Amino acid sequence: MRPDYRTRFAPSPTGLLHLGHAFSALTAWDRAQAVGGSFLLRMEDIDRPRCRPEFEQAIYEDLQWLGLSWPRPFRQSDRMGSYRAALGRLGMSGLIYPCRCTRADIKAALSAPQEGVPVGPDAVIYPGTCRGRGMEEAGPDDALRLDMRRAVASLGNAGFQENGPLYPGWHRLDPDQLVAELGDVVLARRDIGTSYHVAVVVDDAAQRVTEVVRGVDLFSATPIHRLLQVLLELPHPNYWHHDLIRDEHGKRLAKRDDARAIRAYRAEGATPEDIRRMVGL
Ligand code: GLU
Repeated sequence: MRPDYRTRFAPSPTGLLHLGHAFSALTAWDRAQAVGGSFLLRMEDIDRPRCRPEFEQAIYEDLQWLGLSWPRPFRQSDRMGSYRAALGRLGMSGLIYPCRCTRADIKAALSAPQEGVPVGPDAVIYPGTCRGRGMEEAGPDDALRLDMRRAVASLGNAGFQENGPLYPGWHRLDPDQLVAELGDVVLARRDIGTSYHVAVVVDDAAQRVTEVVRGVDLFSATPIHRLLQVLLELPHPNYWHHDLIRDEHGKRLAKRDDARAIRAYRAEGATPEDIRRMVGL
């Protein structure tokens, strides 16, 4: 038994939960249950225009129907002050800079000498046009980017423990790889004032999560999260990345696949046990 084990499910209320979400939530729940630990919930609703209260309500209902329960959930829209504080700290350390480039600017800068466009989990690798601008120059419409070259100087031997079935083991962070494959990632979007990366790291620490259970599509973002934990001196959880549930054509399920929504199966009379079976649990 490990009562100190804490995991979470962190959906964005931008659509109905589908079988892929059920798999993720149930995997986290089962892992917590197995050791007598805690299962927590977090609404990742920073992207306000895309989030809807009725989806948030539907998430609570569907998860309850599946048999899950949780203490008072976190809502990221209530926590903007904590994200600003984290960004302020990175700013004081000279690790972020304001960027006013549009997508078109970035594309133009990249098409000059390079062959093709390097692609990271956040789309293209930023060519560094605004790097070197001071935070005192930040305008209200600027994004904030991490100066990756500077940031990796603090990395030391940092890595993360992956417990999931796909890439188990210790993954040491490689500074050169972070610079080459991720580059100066956006830490505050101009429209929402923060980013998924900052919010997830700050909240996993605030919720005292000891193991992050989530889809393998986020495995490539984990080095960014681990780096931010180092820079912000936050405790670091272990990770469990699971495979994605796919449709019969091998395509991963998306929120717009309403046909696979948990609601749709419920309406057809499926039981929570049927859902478990469908996702292979
Ligand atoms: N909010 C993210 C999603 O719905 C999950 C983030 C995470 O688990 O770290 O895909």
